[in-house]
Amino acid sequence: MADLSLRKVKKVYDNTVVAVQAFDLEIADKEFIVLVGPSGCGKSTTLRMVAGLEEITDGEIYIGGRKVNTVSPKDRDIAMVFQNYALYPHMTVYDNIAYGLKLRKFPKRVIDQKVREAAEILDITELLKRKPKALSGGQRQRVAIGRAIVREPQVFLMDEPLSNLDAKLRNQMRSEIIKLRQKVNTTFIYVTHDQTEAMTLGDRIVIMRDGFVQQVGTPQEVFHHPANLFVAGFIGTPQMNIFDARLVREGERYFVAVGEGAAAHTVELSPEKQARLRACGVESQPVKLGLRPEHLTLTESDDAVYAAVDVSEMMGSAVHIHVSACGQDVVIVVPLSEEEDGEALPMGTPVRFTFRGSAAHVFDVETGRNLEYPIARESEPEAPAGEEQGPAEKPAAPTEEAPPAPEGIPERETLDDPFAEDDGQEG
Ligand code: ADP
Repeated sequence: MADLSLRKVKKVYDNTVVAVQAFDLEIADKEFIVLVGPSGCGKSTTLRMVAGLEEITDGEIYIGGRKVNTVSPKDRDIAMVFQNYALYPHMTVYDNIAYGLKLRKFPKRVIDQKVREAAEILDITELLKRKPKALSGGQRQRVAIGRAIVREPQVFLMDEPLSNLDAKLRNQMRSEIIKLRQKVNTTFIYVTHDQTEAMTLGDRIVIMRDGFVQQVGTPQEVFHHPANLFVAGFIGTPQMNIFDARLVREGERYFVAVGEGAAAHTVELSPEKQARLRACGVESQPVKLGLRPEHLTLTESDDAVYAAVDVSEMMGSAVHIHVSACGQDVVIVVPLSEEEDGEALPMGTPVRFTFRGSAAHVFDVETGRNLEYPIARESEPEAPAGEEQGPAEKPAAPTEEAPPAPEGIPERETLDDPFAEDDGQEG
Protein backbone atom coordinates (compact mmCIF):
# COMPACT_ATOMS: atom_id res chain seq x y z
CA MET A 1 0.00 0.00 0.00
CA ALA A 2 1.35 3.37 -0.94
CA ASP A 3 0.54 6.87 -1.97
CA LEU A 4 1.82 8.19 -5.27
CA SER A 5 2.84 11.57 -6.47
CA LEU A 6 3.23 12.55 -10.10
CA ARG A 7 4.81 15.96 -10.49
CA LYS A 8 4.93 17.71 -13.83
CA VAL A 9 5.49 14.38 -15.52
CA LYS A 10 6.06 14.70 -19.23
CA LYS A 11 6.74 12.24 -22.00
CA VAL A 12 8.08 13.02 -25.43
CA TYR A 13 8.68 10.08 -27.77
CA ASP A 14 11.49 10.33 -30.30
CA ASN A 15 11.97 14.05 -29.53
CA THR A 16 8.79 14.75 -31.46
CA VAL A 17 5.62 13.10 -30.15
CA VAL A 18 4.48 14.79 -26.94
CA ALA A 19 2.39 12.03 -25.39
CA VAL A 20 1.91 13.44 -21.89
CA GLN A 21 2.14 17.06 -20.77
CA ALA A 22 2.95 18.23 -17.25
CA PHE A 23 0.89 15.58 -15.51
CA ASP A 24 0.31 16.51 -11.85
CA LEU A 25 -1.53 14.21 -9.49
CA GLU A 26 -1.41 13.21 -5.84
CA ILE A 27 -2.86 9.75 -5.28
CA ALA A 28 -3.76 8.74 -1.74
CA ASP A 29 -2.91 5.36 -0.24
CA LYS A 30 -5.60 2.81 -1.25
CA GLU A 31 -7.23 5.21 -3.67
CA PHE A 32 -8.67 3.87 -6.94
CA ILE A 33 -7.72 6.28 -9.73
CA VAL A 34 -8.98 5.85 -13.28
CA LEU A 35 -7.25 7.49 -16.25
CA VAL A 36 -9.79 7.89 -19.02
CA GLY A 37 -9.87 9.54 -22.40
CA PRO A 38 -10.00 8.78 -26.10
CA SER A 39 -7.40 6.62 -27.78
CA GLY A 40 -4.00 8.31 -28.03
CA CYS A 41 -4.58 10.80 -25.19
CA GLY A 42 -1.62 9.51 -23.17
CA LYS A 43 -3.24 7.20 -20.61
CA SER A 44 -1.09 4.13 -21.22
CA THR A 45 2.06 6.21 -21.45
CA THR A 46 1.30 7.72 -18.04
CA LEU A 47 0.69 4.29 -16.54
CA ARG A 48 3.82 2.86 -18.14
CA MET A 49 5.87 5.70 -16.71
CA VAL A 50 4.56 4.84 -13.24
CA ALA A 51 5.45 1.21 -13.90
CA GLY A 52 8.92 2.14 -15.08
CA LEU A 53 8.34 0.72 -18.54
CA GLU A 54 8.80 4.14 -20.16
CA GLU A 55 11.45 6.63 -19.33
CA ILE A 56 10.20 9.96 -18.04
CA THR A 57 11.21 12.90 -20.20
CA ASP A 58 10.61 15.42 -17.45
CA GLY A 59 9.12 15.57 -13.95
CA GLU A 60 9.15 13.26 -10.95
CA ILE A 61 7.28 10.20 -9.79
CA TYR A 62 7.15 9.16 -6.13
CA ILE A 63 5.77 5.86 -4.84
CA GLY A 64 5.35 5.68 -1.08
CA GLY A 65 7.49 8.79 -0.70
CA ARG A 66 10.38 7.33 -2.69
CA LYS A 67 11.42 8.96 -5.95
CA VAL A 68 11.37 6.21 -8.55
CA ASN A 69 12.36 8.03 -11.76
CA THR A 70 15.32 5.74 -12.31
CA VAL A 71 14.19 2.70 -10.29
CA SER A 72 13.69 -0.40 -12.42
CA PRO A 73 10.16 -1.86 -12.76
CA LYS A 74 10.86 -4.88 -10.60
CA ASP A 75 12.07 -2.70 -7.74
CA ARG A 76 9.02 -0.42 -7.71
CA ASP A 77 6.83 -2.88 -5.83
CA ILE A 78 4.02 -2.68 -8.31
CA ALA A 79 2.07 -5.18 -10.35
CA MET A 80 0.51 -4.55 -13.71
CA VAL A 81 -2.28 -6.26 -15.59
CA PHE A 82 -2.42 -5.63 -19.32
CA GLN A 83 -5.12 -5.87 -21.92
CA ASN A 84 -3.22 -8.66 -23.62
CA TYR A 85 -2.69 -10.82 -20.61
CA ALA A 86 -0.18 -13.47 -21.53
CA LEU A 87 -0.38 -16.78 -19.71
CA TYR A 88 2.03 -19.65 -20.16
CA PRO A 89 -0.02 -22.08 -22.23
CA HIS A 90 1.81 -25.19 -21.06
CA MET A 91 1.43 -24.40 -17.34
CA THR A 92 -1.61 -24.98 -15.17
CA VAL A 93 -3.44 -22.04 -13.67
CA TYR A 94 -1.76 -22.85 -10.36
CA ASP A 95 1.70 -22.69 -11.89
CA ASN A 96 0.91 -19.57 -13.85
CA ILE A 97 -0.05 -17.80 -10.64
CA ALA A 98 2.84 -19.29 -8.69
CA TYR A 99 5.46 -18.57 -11.33
CA GLY A 100 6.64 -15.16 -10.16
CA LEU A 101 6.89 -16.37 -6.57
CA LYS A 102 8.91 -19.42 -7.62
CA LEU A 103 11.34 -17.15 -9.43
CA ARG A 104 11.72 -15.19 -6.24
CA LYS A 105 12.45 -18.44 -4.43
CA PHE A 106 9.59 -18.23 -1.97
CA PRO A 107 9.18 -21.40 0.12
CA LYS A 108 6.72 -23.87 -1.39
CA ARG A 109 4.36 -23.62 1.55
CA VAL A 110 4.16 -19.82 1.27
CA ILE A 111 3.60 -20.04 -2.48
CA ASP A 112 0.82 -22.54 -1.98
CA GLN A 113 -0.88 -20.35 0.56
CA LYS A 114 -0.64 -17.22 -1.59
CA VAL A 115 -1.86 -18.97 -4.72
CA ARG A 116 -4.85 -20.45 -2.89
CA GLU A 117 -5.71 -17.12 -1.31
CA ALA A 118 -5.57 -15.36 -4.68
CA ALA A 119 -7.65 -18.11 -6.27
CA GLU A 120 -10.19 -17.75 -3.49
CA ILE A 121 -10.41 -13.98 -3.98
CA LEU A 122 -10.91 -14.45 -7.71
CA ASP A 123 -13.20 -17.43 -7.39
CA ILE A 124 -11.04 -19.67 -9.57
CA THR A 125 -10.08 -22.33 -7.01
CA GLU A 126 -11.74 -25.06 -9.06
CA LEU A 127 -9.73 -24.04 -12.11
CA LEU A 128 -6.26 -24.33 -10.58
CA LYS A 129 -5.43 -27.58 -12.37
CA ARG A 130 -6.56 -26.45 -15.80
CA LYS A 131 -4.40 -25.16 -18.59
CA PRO A 132 -5.18 -21.71 -20.05
CA LYS A 133 -6.67 -23.10 -23.25
CA ALA A 134 -9.45 -24.70 -21.20
CA LEU A 135 -10.48 -21.33 -19.80
CA SER A 136 -12.86 -18.64 -21.01
CA GLY A 137 -11.57 -15.13 -21.69
CA GLY A 138 -12.87 -13.87 -18.35
CA GLN A 139 -11.27 -16.75 -16.49
CA ARG A 140 -7.92 -16.15 -18.16
CA GLN A 141 -8.10 -12.52 -17.20
CA ARG A 142 -8.70 -13.57 -13.60
CA VAL A 143 -5.62 -15.75 -13.71
CA ALA A 144 -3.62 -12.80 -15.00
CA ILE A 145 -4.97 -10.73 -12.12
CA GLY A 146 -4.17 -13.59 -9.74
CA ARG A 147 -0.58 -13.48 -10.85
CA ALA A 148 -0.50 -9.81 -9.95
CA ILE A 149 -2.28 -10.27 -6.60
CA VAL A 150 0.20 -12.81 -5.22
CA ARG A 151 2.94 -10.23 -5.42
CA GLU A 152 1.02 -8.17 -2.87
CA PRO A 153 2.19 -5.04 -4.62
CA GLN A 154 2.08 -1.56 -3.16
CA VAL A 155 0.34 -0.36 -6.29
CA PHE A 156 -1.83 -2.19 -8.77
CA LEU A 157 -1.68 -0.90 -12.35
CA MET A 158 -4.29 -2.02 -14.86
CA ASP A 159 -4.15 -1.11 -18.54
CA GLU A 160 -7.51 -1.69 -20.21
CA PRO A 161 -7.76 -5.12 -18.57
CA LEU A 162 -11.29 -5.72 -19.82
CA SER A 163 -11.03 -4.51 -23.42
CA ASN A 164 -10.63 -7.96 -24.90
CA LEU A 165 -13.76 -9.30 -23.26
CA ASP A 166 -17.20 -9.23 -24.81
CA ALA A 167 -19.73 -6.73 -23.51
CA LYS A 168 -21.50 -9.01 -21.05
CA LEU A 169 -18.30 -10.37 -19.59
CA ARG A 170 -16.91 -6.89 -19.34
CA ASN A 171 -19.84 -5.81 -17.19
CA GLN A 172 -19.37 -8.86 -15.00
CA MET A 173 -15.64 -8.35 -14.63
CA ARG A 174 -16.25 -4.71 -13.79
CA SER A 175 -18.13 -5.71 -10.68
CA GLU A 176 -15.45 -8.33 -10.01
CA ILE A 177 -12.86 -5.57 -9.98
CA ILE A 178 -14.94 -3.56 -7.52
CA LYS A 179 -15.02 -6.63 -5.25
CA LEU A 180 -11.33 -7.30 -5.82
CA ARG A 181 -10.52 -3.78 -4.80
CA GLN A 182 -12.34 -4.26 -1.50
CA LYS A 183 -10.51 -7.52 -0.86
CA VAL A 184 -6.95 -6.54 -1.71
CA ASN A 185 -7.30 -2.97 -0.48
CA THR A 186 -4.32 -1.38 -2.17
CA THR A 187 -3.71 1.60 -4.42
CA PHE A 188 -5.01 1.17 -7.97
CA ILE A 189 -4.39 3.07 -11.17
CA TYR A 190 -6.66 1.85 -13.91
CA VAL A 191 -6.62 2.91 -17.55
CA THR A 192 -9.67 2.73 -19.79
CA HIS A 193 -11.25 4.54 -22.72
CA ASP A 194 -14.70 3.59 -21.46
CA GLN A 195 -16.34 6.33 -19.42
CA THR A 196 -18.78 3.90 -17.78
CA GLU A 197 -15.88 1.84 -16.49
CA ALA A 198 -14.29 5.02 -15.22
CA MET A 199 -17.46 6.24 -13.54
CA THR A 200 -18.22 2.94 -11.84
CA LEU A 201 -14.70 2.05 -10.68
CA GLY A 202 -12.93 5.28 -9.82
CA ASP A 203 -12.78 7.06 -6.49
CA ARG A 204 -11.47 9.81 -8.70
CA ILE A 205 -11.27 10.05 -12.45
CA VAL A 206 -8.58 11.77 -14.47
CA ILE A 207 -9.92 12.79 -17.86
CA MET A 208 -7.20 13.26 -20.47
CA ARG A 209 -7.08 14.65 -23.98
CA ASP A 210 -4.09 15.08 -26.27
CA GLY A 211 -1.67 14.54 -23.40
CA PHE A 212 -3.31 17.14 -21.18
CA VAL A 213 -5.28 16.47 -18.03
CA GLN A 214 -8.69 18.06 -18.53
CA GLN A 215 -10.17 17.45 -15.11
CA VAL A 216 -9.60 15.40 -11.98
CA GLY A 217 -12.56 14.66 -9.76
CA THR A 218 -14.94 12.18 -8.26
CA PRO A 219 -17.47 10.66 -10.66
CA GLN A 220 -20.12 12.99 -9.25
CA GLU A 221 -17.91 16.06 -9.70
CA VAL A 222 -17.00 15.40 -13.29
CA PHE A 223 -20.59 14.51 -14.13
CA HIS A 224 -22.24 17.47 -12.42
CA HIS A 225 -19.45 20.02 -12.78
CA PRO A 226 -17.58 19.33 -16.02
CA ALA A 227 -14.65 21.72 -16.30
CA ASN A 228 -15.07 22.18 -20.04
CA LEU A 229 -17.02 21.12 -23.09
CA PHE A 230 -14.74 18.15 -23.73
CA VAL A 231 -15.39 16.62 -20.30
CA ALA A 232 -19.07 17.48 -20.61
CA GLY A 233 -19.30 15.53 -23.84
CA PHE A 234 -17.07 12.66 -22.79
CA ILE A 235 -18.71 11.83 -19.47
CA GLY A 236 -22.33 10.69 -19.45
CA THR A 237 -24.37 8.77 -21.92
CA PRO A 238 -26.31 9.65 -23.95
CA GLN A 239 -24.05 12.63 -24.49
CA MET A 240 -24.86 16.05 -23.15
CA ASN A 241 -26.82 18.22 -25.60
CA ILE A 242 -25.00 21.43 -26.50
CA PHE A 243 -26.96 24.50 -27.66
CA ASP A 244 -25.93 27.90 -28.92
CA ALA A 245 -27.50 30.14 -26.32
CA ARG A 246 -27.17 33.47 -24.54
CA LEU A 247 -26.23 34.08 -20.96
CA VAL A 248 -28.02 37.18 -19.68
CA ARG A 249 -26.91 38.97 -16.54
CA GLU A 250 -29.45 41.32 -14.93
CA GLY A 251 -27.79 42.84 -11.90
CA GLU A 252 -27.15 39.94 -9.56
CA ARG A 253 -29.22 37.45 -11.53
CA TYR A 254 -28.32 35.19 -14.45
CA PHE A 255 -30.55 33.65 -17.10
CA VAL A 256 -29.95 31.49 -20.13
CA ALA A 257 -31.98 31.98 -23.28
CA VAL A 258 -32.10 29.26 -25.90
CA GLY A 259 -33.87 29.67 -29.25
CA GLU A 260 -34.32 32.65 -31.50
CA GLY A 261 -35.96 36.03 -30.82
CA ALA A 262 -39.48 35.93 -29.44
CA ALA A 263 -39.46 32.12 -29.44
CA ALA A 264 -36.48 32.02 -27.06
CA HIS A 265 -36.98 30.04 -23.88
CA THR A 266 -35.45 31.74 -20.87
CA VAL A 267 -34.59 29.97 -17.61
CA GLU A 268 -33.07 31.49 -14.50
CA LEU A 269 -30.00 29.66 -13.26
CA SER A 270 -29.97 28.13 -9.79
CA PRO A 271 -28.79 30.34 -6.89
CA GLU A 272 -25.57 28.27 -6.56
CA LYS A 273 -24.73 28.73 -10.22
CA GLN A 274 -25.54 32.42 -10.08
CA ALA A 275 -23.25 32.82 -7.07
CA ARG A 276 -20.37 31.12 -8.86
CA LEU A 277 -20.84 33.17 -12.02
CA ARG A 278 -20.98 36.36 -9.95
CA ALA A 279 -17.80 35.35 -8.15
CA CYS A 280 -16.11 34.96 -11.53
CA GLY A 281 -17.47 38.32 -12.70
CA VAL A 282 -19.14 36.74 -15.73
CA GLU A 283 -21.12 39.17 -17.88
CA SER A 284 -23.84 38.67 -20.50
CA GLN A 285 -22.48 36.85 -23.52
CA PRO A 286 -23.20 34.17 -26.10
CA VAL A 287 -22.50 30.74 -24.59
CA LYS A 288 -22.54 27.06 -25.34
CA LEU A 289 -25.32 25.72 -23.15
CA GLY A 290 -24.98 22.11 -22.00
CA LEU A 291 -28.08 20.16 -20.95
CA ARG A 292 -27.98 16.46 -20.22
CA PRO A 293 -30.67 14.38 -21.94
CA GLU A 294 -31.96 13.20 -18.55
CA HIS A 295 -32.33 16.79 -17.38
CA LEU A 296 -34.69 17.82 -20.17
CA THR A 297 -38.39 17.43 -19.42
CA LEU A 298 -41.32 17.45 -21.77
CA THR A 299 -43.88 20.11 -20.92
CA GLU A 300 -47.30 21.37 -22.04
CA SER A 301 -46.32 24.95 -21.27
CA ASP A 302 -45.94 27.45 -24.10
CA ASP A 303 -42.80 28.79 -22.46
CA ALA A 304 -40.51 26.04 -23.65
CA VAL A 305 -38.25 24.98 -26.48
CA TYR A 306 -40.29 23.76 -29.44
CA ALA A 307 -39.18 20.57 -31.13
CA ALA A 308 -40.32 17.81 -33.48
CA VAL A 309 -39.76 14.13 -32.86
CA ASP A 310 -37.36 12.32 -35.19
CA VAL A 311 -37.32 8.95 -33.55
CA SER A 312 -38.02 7.51 -30.13
CA GLU A 313 -36.10 4.57 -28.78
CA MET A 314 -37.59 2.36 -26.11
CA MET A 315 -34.84 1.45 -23.65
CA GLY A 316 -37.00 -0.39 -21.13
CA SER A 317 -36.70 1.86 -18.12
CA ALA A 318 -36.73 5.01 -20.24
CA VAL A 319 -37.52 6.34 -23.68
CA HIS A 320 -34.82 8.21 -25.55
CA ILE A 321 -36.60 10.73 -27.71
CA HIS A 322 -34.51 12.21 -30.50
CA VAL A 323 -35.94 15.54 -31.59
CA SER A 324 -34.99 18.43 -33.83
CA ALA A 325 -34.87 21.72 -31.99
CA CYS A 326 -33.05 24.98 -32.64
CA GLY A 327 -31.78 23.49 -35.92
CA GLN A 328 -30.02 20.55 -34.31
CA ASP A 329 -30.51 17.05 -32.96
CA VAL A 330 -31.40 16.84 -29.31
CA VAL A 331 -31.89 13.79 -27.12
CA ILE A 332 -34.42 13.76 -24.29
CA VAL A 333 -34.48 10.87 -21.83
CA VAL A 334 -37.93 10.28 -20.37
CA PRO A 335 -37.86 7.79 -17.50
CA LEU A 336 -40.74 5.33 -17.36
CA SER A 337 -42.41 4.11 -14.22
CA GLU A 338 -43.43 0.45 -13.81
CA GLU A 339 -46.94 0.98 -15.17
CA GLU A 340 -45.97 3.07 -18.16
CA ASP A 341 -45.54 1.40 -21.50
CA GLY A 342 -43.94 4.45 -23.03
CA GLU A 343 -45.66 4.64 -26.37
CA ALA A 344 -43.35 5.51 -29.21
CA LEU A 345 -44.02 9.00 -30.53
CA PRO A 346 -44.41 9.05 -34.33
CA MET A 347 -41.91 11.04 -36.35
CA GLY A 348 -42.88 14.66 -36.69
CA THR A 349 -44.87 14.82 -33.43
CA PRO A 350 -44.50 18.32 -32.03
CA VAL A 351 -43.20 18.41 -28.47
CA ARG A 352 -41.93 21.07 -26.07
CA PHE A 353 -39.26 20.74 -23.48
CA THR A 354 -37.79 22.71 -20.65
CA PHE A 355 -35.07 22.33 -18.01
CA ARG A 356 -34.20 23.51 -14.54
CA GLY A 357 -31.72 26.26 -13.85
CA SER A 358 -29.66 23.86 -11.76
CA ALA A 359 -29.13 21.59 -14.77
CA ALA A 360 -27.79 24.22 -17.16
CA HIS A 361 -24.03 24.26 -17.83
CA VAL A 362 -22.66 27.36 -19.49
CA PHE A 363 -19.40 27.21 -21.42
CA ASP A 364 -17.23 29.86 -23.05
CA VAL A 365 -17.87 29.90 -26.79
CA GLU A 366 -14.20 30.31 -27.66
CA THR A 367 -12.38 28.11 -25.15
CA GLY A 368 -15.11 25.70 -24.05
CA ARG A 369 -14.26 26.45 -20.42
CA ASN A 370 -17.08 26.11 -17.88
CA LEU A 371 -17.85 29.72 -16.95
CA GLU A 372 -18.54 28.72 -13.34
CA TYR A 373 -14.84 27.96 -12.88
CA PRO A 374 -12.43 30.74 -12.15
CA ILE A 375 -9.84 31.00 -14.92
CA ALA A 376 -7.18 28.59 -13.71
CA ARG A 377 -4.46 26.40 -15.02
CA GLU A 378 -5.82 24.41 -17.94
CA SER A 379 -4.72 21.14 -16.46
CA GLU A 380 -6.49 20.94 -13.15
CA PRO A 381 -9.33 23.34 -12.46
CA GLU A 382 -10.75 23.48 -8.97
CA ALA A 383 -14.16 21.85 -8.82
CA PRO A 384 -16.82 24.17 -7.51
CA ALA A 385 -18.25 23.12 -4.14
CA GLY A 386 -20.62 20.23 -4.69
CA GLU A 387 -24.15 21.23 -5.46
CA GLU A 388 -26.45 18.47 -6.56
CA GLN A 389 -28.60 19.31 -9.46
CA GLY A 390 -31.49 17.66 -11.13
CA PRO A 391 -32.02 13.98 -10.55
CA ALA A 392 -28.65 12.77 -9.31
CA GLU A 393 -28.62 9.58 -11.25
CA LYS A 394 -25.48 8.12 -12.69
CA PRO A 395 -25.22 8.06 -16.44
CA ALA A 396 -27.03 5.24 -18.13
CA ALA A 397 -25.17 2.23 -19.39
CA PRO A 398 -23.37 2.98 -22.60
CA THR A 399 -24.10 1.37 -25.86
CA GLU A 400 -21.37 -1.20 -26.04
CA GLU A 401 -19.27 -1.26 -29.16
CA ALA A 402 -18.62 -4.58 -30.72
CA PRO A 403 -15.58 -5.83 -28.82
CA PRO A 404 -12.63 -7.29 -30.60
CA ALA A 405 -12.78 -11.06 -30.80
CA PRO A 406 -10.99 -12.54 -27.80
CA GLU A 407 -7.62 -13.79 -28.85
CA GLY A 408 -6.73 -17.37 -28.39
CA ILE A 409 -3.75 -18.35 -26.34
CA PRO A 410 -0.77 -18.40 -28.66
CA GLU A 411 1.04 -21.69 -29.01
CA ARG A 412 4.33 -20.31 -27.85
CA GLU A 413 4.47 -17.18 -25.96
CA THR A 414 7.11 -14.84 -24.76
CA LEU A 415 6.00 -13.62 -21.43
CA ASP A 416 8.06 -10.59 -20.75
CA ASP A 417 7.48 -9.97 -17.14
CA PRO A 418 9.35 -6.82 -16.33
CA PHE A 419 8.22 -7.02 -12.72
CA ALA A 420 9.70 -10.44 -12.08
CA GLU A 421 13.20 -11.08 -10.90
CA ASP A 422 15.58 -11.60 -13.82
CA ASP A 423 15.91 -15.27 -14.39
CA GLY A 424 13.04 -16.24 -16.59
CA GLN A 425 14.70 -19.44 -17.72
CA GLU A 426 12.02 -21.62 -16.29
CA GLY A 427 8.93 -22.10 -18.51
P1 ADP B 1 -3.64 6.00 -24.92
O1 ADP B 1 -3.20 4.99 -23.93
O2 ADP B 1 -4.42 7.12 -24.29
O3 ADP B 1 -4.37 5.42 -26.09
P2 ADP B 1 -0.83 6.31 -25.47
O4 ADP B 1 -0.26 6.70 -24.17
O5 ADP B 1 -0.67 4.90 -25.91
O6 ADP B 1 -2.36 6.74 -25.53
O7 ADP B 1 -0.21 7.24 -26.61
C1 ADP B 1 -0.13 8.65 -26.48
C2 ADP B 1 0.53 9.21 -27.73
O8 ADP B 1 1.87 8.77 -27.79
C3 ADP B 1 -0.09 8.78 -29.03
O9 ADP B 1 -0.02 9.85 -29.90
C4 ADP B 1 0.77 7.64 -29.47
O10 ADP B 1 0.76 7.51 -30.87
C5 ADP B 1 2.14 8.07 -28.99
N1 ADP B 1 3.00 6.92 -28.66
C6 ADP B 1 2.73 5.91 -27.79
N2 ADP B 1 3.77 5.04 -27.71
C7 ADP B 1 4.72 5.52 -28.56
C8 ADP B 1 6.04 5.06 -28.94
N3 ADP B 1 6.57 3.97 -28.40
N4 ADP B 1 6.73 5.80 -29.83
C9 ADP B 1 6.19 6.93 -30.36
N5 ADP B 1 4.97 7.40 -30.05
C10 ADP B 1 4.23 6.71 -29.16
